[in-house]
Amino acid sequence: MEKKANIDNALTLQNPTSEFLLKKAIHSITPFTLLDYPEKTACILWFSGCNMKCGYCYNPEIVFGKGQLSFSELFSFLQKRTGLIDAVVFSGGECLLHKDIIEVVRRVKQMGFLVKIDTNGSKPLVLEKLLNEQLIDYVAMDFKGTKEKFQHIAKLDSYERFMNCLLQLKKDGILFEIRTTFHSNLLNKDDILEMKEVLENEGYSNPFYVQNFRKYQNTIEPLPDSFPLNEVHFSPNMTEIIFR
Ligand code: SF4
Repeated sequence: MEKKANIDNALTLQNPTSEFLLKKAIHSITPFTLLDYPEKTACILWFSGCNMKCGYCYNPEIVFGKGQLSFSELFSFLQKRTGLIDAVVFSGGECLLHKDIIEVVRRVKQMGFLVKIDTNGSKPLVLEKLLNEQLIDYVAMDFKGTKEKFQHIAKLDSYERFMNCLLQLKKDGILFEIRTTFHSNLLNKDDILEMKEVLENEGYSNPFYVQNFRKYQNTIEPLPDSFPLNEVHFSPNMTEIIFR
């Protein structure tokens, strides 16, 4: 029965006349990574477009660009990767913005891959649907800043939506991680402690990953160098903050 279902799925996925399959939402694919899904091999799908415009974003060509690859090309690529990689990472941009995202995730899941979602936490209803259908296995969610600074950093007033996503992830019990990009022009040590407290108050007990900004040539805004934070800025019992 399961074998039949797999054959049916393969036939559906290969249908080149479907309007859905011809849609182009993916900017590009990283075919192999050992770094983006904990302890799994994966590929990364970079979905074009984002509803935030963080100044430190180093993917402006993805945020402002148009999709280049059709879903048909995606599924053909993944069929060749079956058995060679464990997981598919949906990233971007903001992958949950795309109106076909649930169908795409559903099909990738049907192909037998683990699914990880990288999200900026602004699409709680889409996240809820994915969780309810048990279509995803791991989530990495950005925490852009404190309630006061969130909109200034993200250029989007979505702190409450982030909190809604956090509640859903916690309630669902799915494996997930929270991460923040730190730039000393945008956040300070006390902000990081405040954000950590927000997470703890919501029952988050996984590590809080803080990624120090590194100057790239091509960010959305021309930011100066940042003064990085690291463990020495925090007391020894703060080890659940992990710096990257
Ligand atoms: S860093 Fe900000 S602008 Fe760039 S993709 Fe992530 S949420 Fe969008």
